[in-house]
Amino acid sequence: VAPTNCRYVNSELSQIFLRCGQNEDGALNESIPQLAKQDPDLWAASVIFIASNHKVNFGPVTDTRFTIQSIVKILIYAYAASHLGVLHVSDRVKCRGFAVPYNSDKTTEGCAPNVCLNSGALTACAMILKLVHPKAKQWLHVFYTFRSFVQKICGGDIIECDYDTYHSEISTAASNRAILAKLSKCGTLPADVDTEDVLCFYTSCCSLLVNTQHLANMGLVLAKTGKNESGKQVLEPRVAQACLAQMMQAGLYEQSGDFFAITGLLAKSGVSGGVVAVAHKKIAIGLFSPRLNAYGNSTRAVQFIRELSVTIPGIHQLAE
Ligand code: GLN
Repeated sequence: VAPTNCRYVNSELSQIFLRCGQNEDGALNESIPQLAKQDPDLWAASVIFIASNHKVNFGPVTDTRFTIQSIVKILIYAYAASHLGVLHVSDRVKCRGFAVPYNSDKTTEGCAPNVCLNSGALTACAMILKLVHPKAKQWLHVFYTFRSFVQKICGGDIIECDYDTYHSEISTAASNRAILAKLSKCGTLPADVDTEDVLCFYTSCCSLLVNTQHLANMGLVLAKTGKNESGKQVLEPRVAQACLAQMMQAGLYEQSGDFFAITGLLAKSGVSGGVVAVAHKKIAIGLFSPRLNAYGNSTRAVQFIRELSVTIPGIHQLAE
């Protein structure tokens, strides 16, 4: 947006934000007990217009921290692909749309369909532990290195792990353990990887505490082909492109294609209620509201992006 349009854009976005704040559809995630305790009315949004670097926040943005959950899968993939190459990662983690829920154990012979399903994210975690850091003595050391990478992509703040959510998820992780057992049996995981280490590493990654500004910063890096706000290349362009391809295929699970067709933005959601959404070289958005629709995507976040995409001209992927 040009500076003269900022006031118009801010007022349109603020009306959308208020309207979405009245939407009480959806329900809190209950598969992770700690997430069922979230305040359902929390609502925050951060928007960055890439060309002008115009930034606007709505709601208690900096005070509202939430666990990143599945949004981190894109960063797990980015980390694996940055070290091993997109091609090597695709030996085990494909970029194929599969209209199934995130915790489906869908896995084909020797590979997972995409990184947004738990099967793909767990496989990418196993690749990080076994192929990127084969000499690491403990998964926790790898996690600290990965966390530094997340901090770099999300704008530089210190990002902590929420141990309550971590323990809550680890103690109820029967379905992720079952997925790991199946992946191991199918030969999808690298040989000799300790599946319990993979689960602990993956769950720590999901428990990183972020706010909507961190997510908007992450979106900005993806929207600027791997460059951060100050123009530093923090992800290779090919890796950023492959991340966006993953979001297009499965970022919102079964809702991904419909969402892209309707809004022209690519997004990734997490079960705590966070969403990151981007349009190449145009816009990066971080949103948080914990009530989820039937696909596990934040209802207010989906509505916000849908309304924004029709109200603010020229922010979708193919706009001139
Ligand atoms: N930690 C969650 C899980 O593995 C993440 C799922 C999600 O955000 N969709 O079940």
